[in-house]
Amino acid sequence: MAGGCEVEGLIQPLAGPVRHLYVHVPYCHKICPYCSFYKHLPSEGSMGNYGHALLAEARLLKESRVPLALETVYFGGGTPTLLSLSALEELLVPLATLLDFSKVTEWTMEVNPRTITPPKAQLMRQAGVTRTSLGVQAWDKPTLHTLGRDHSPAEADEAFAILRAAGFPVVNLDLMFSVPGQSHQAWQDTLERSVGLRPDHVSAYNLTYEEDTEFFQRCQAGQYAVEEDRDEQCFASAMQILGEAGLEQYEISNYGRPGMESRHNQGYWAGDDYAGLGPGAVSTIHGQRFKNIENTTLWQQGAMSGKLLRIEAEEITASKWLCERLALSLRTRCGLPAAWLATVPEALARLTSEGLLQCQDNQVFLTHRGKFVADGVAAHLWEAMDDETG
Ligand code: SF4
Repeated sequence: MAGGCEVEGLIQPLAGPVRHLYVHVPYCHKICPYCSFYKHLPSEGSMGNYGHALLAEARLLKESRVPLALETVYFGGGTPTLLSLSALEELLVPLATLLDFSKVTEWTMEVNPRTITPPKAQLMRQAGVTRTSLGVQAWDKPTLHTLGRDHSPAEADEAFAILRAAGFPVVNLDLMFSVPGQSHQAWQDTLERSVGLRPDHVSAYNLTYEEDTEFFQRCQAGQYAVEEDRDEQCFASAMQILGEAGLEQYEISNYGRPGMESRHNQGYWAGDDYAGLGPGAVSTIHGQRFKNIENTTLWQQGAMSGKLLRIEAEEITASKWLCERLALSLRTRCGLPAAWLATVPEALARLTSEGLLQCQDNQVFLTHRGKFVADGVAAHLWEAMDDETG
C-alpha cells in the first residue's frame, strides 16, 4: 500500500493492477437526515437479489481488461449488515472466490448497531472480514435523536461486544461532532466512553451540511448553523482525548493504534486506483473515473443482463490528480513531498511562517494549528500552483 510517506517525487497517477475494491450496499432501515450517500429503504430495488447483482457486476469486472490484484476490500453503504444472514452467506465467500481475495490483507465492513447479530458477525469473520466499522456517532440519547439514529447507547454497546466476541482484528468506532444541540461536554463524554471500550481505531468527523439533505435545508432555513468556535473546541478535544488513549491521529479525522490504520483509506489518500461495485459506486482506473447509476432497480437490471450503467465519467489528468493529492495527502501525518511544492516557495514560506506548515526530511506537514484549517491551507497551495502554471 502506498502511504503518503512512500510517494516522494511521484506527481502523477500510478499504473498497474487495481488493488482496492469498494462494494456499495444502499439499503438502510431508516434514513438519517444528515446523510448524503446514495441510500434508500429496503422497498426500492430487490434486496433479496442484491447479492446476485453484485456478483454479476463482479463477473463483468473480472472479464474486463482491468487487471486486479486486490489487497483491500471495503463494504460500505448504506448498511451492509442490513442484508440477511443467508444473503451475506450467498455473497461474501462467492465474491472473495470470484475476485480472488487471497492477497487481501484488510477487508472492512460497515456495521449498524441495529442490524448486527452474533451469527452475522461470525459469518463475516469466517468469510475473511478483518475490520468492522461500527456507526455509533454518539453515546447520548439527545444527539442520537437529532441525528435520526434509531439505536440506543445500550444497543451500540451490545453491538461492540458482538464484534469483539467474533474476533475481528480491528474494530473502528465512527463518531460525529458539532451536531446541533450537542454540547462540548456531551462530545467529550462520547469520546471518553468510546476510549473506555478500547477500540482499535476511531473516526471522528465534524458534521457537514451536505446539499440534498434535510440538515442542509434546516441550515438554509436558519434552524441550524455552523459554529466554527465549537468545531475547533470539539476537534481539539478529539485530538487530546483520543491521543491520550494511544490512538494516533494519522489523518485529520482518523485515529488508530499503531499498525491498525485503515489501509483502504490510505490507498484513496495516496491516489491508488480502486474499483467500485453497486449503484452509486465510483471507480478510478488508469486515469478514468466513473460512477455507477444511482438507481438500484436499473443498476440491478443492468448488472444481471451484462450491462454496466454509468452516469459520470471523468478523465483524471495529472493536474487533477495532483490537486486531489495535495488536499488528501496534506491531511495525513505523512504530509506531502516538499518536491511537489518546489514551484511555490513563497506560498510555502508564508504558510510556514504563519505556523501552519512545517518541513522535515523533505516532507511538508500541517502543524497542530494547521490541522484546524487543513482545507484552507491545501486550497491556498493549489491556487499558488495554479497561478504558477498559468
Ligand atoms: S448515515 Fe448510514 S444508516 Fe444513516 S442513512 Fe446514511 S448510510 Fe444509512
